[in-house]
Amino acid sequence: MKQILLQLSIFCALLISCENTKQSVKEHDDHVAISETPYAVPNGEFGDIQSPINILTGKVDDVIHSKLNIEAHCNAVENKGHTVQLDFDSTSQLYFDDVKYNFKQLHFHTPSEHQIDGITYPMELHMVNVLDHDQSEKPHYLVIGVLFKMGKENPFINEFINKIPKDENGIANVTDQEVRLEDLFGKYGCEEMKHYYHYNGSLTTPPYTETVSWHINQVIFEASADQIQFLNKLEGNNARHIQDLKGRHVEKEDLLVTAKHI
Ligand SMILES: [Zn+2]
Repeated sequence: MKQILLQLSIFCALLISCENTKQSVKEHDDHVAISETPYAVPNGEFGDIQSPINILTGKVDDVIHSKLNIEAHCNAVENKGHTVQLDFDSTSQLYFDDVKYNFKQLHFHTPSEHQIDGITYPMELHMVNVLDHDQSEKPHYLVIGVLFKMGKENPFINEFINKIPKDENGIANVTDQEVRLEDLFGKYGCEEMKHYYHYNGSLTTPPYTETVSWHINQVIFEASADQIQFLNKLEGNNARHIQDLKGRHVEKEDLLVTAKHI
């Protein structure tokens, strides 16, 4: 009975929308596109190099070599409702092969957005870096992704998990002594930081800008079930669907990683 009522109400809604003018239907479509489809099924309307993707490790290209240098000072933790985000101050930088990016923020997705050989992991972290740009230009991003499986408690996540504001849009100040990015890796330049999959894609949230150089760590990190569940309760399921590769290639990438500031 419930099913019949639901179908009836959908039918009525369709009838009503058909009576609207073309303009108002268009406005309705735009509204849906902006506010209700961040994690929608791919349909090609945002371009041909969208993210996330399923990385098939048997099909990746040969290893490329690059240099990475990070200097990151965390100064706030935010509950943005759809994600938990750590902010970094204006002196935070990332040099990739001597090109300077501003290290802006890192945030979490539960479950993971990228897949490795078809496997979705319970969590993914994105470090978002942006090139300096004029307001008139599209920003160019370099995003480092780290996937997590359930396992040992993660010491880096412990540094801020109790500081996340309970209220949506709340911001709590932290210092770079309390929340130390280097604690995510153990130490800069260690084996956990060296090996990545690289491809070109897009932001995974609106406006899905296709100017993102993606670097997904080959090592799967660990976090406890409690930590992952805690973040998931705050941000909900915020992973976008897998997008078509459309002829793109994924490369293996080895990075020589150094830190200016430890
Ligand atoms: Zn993200």
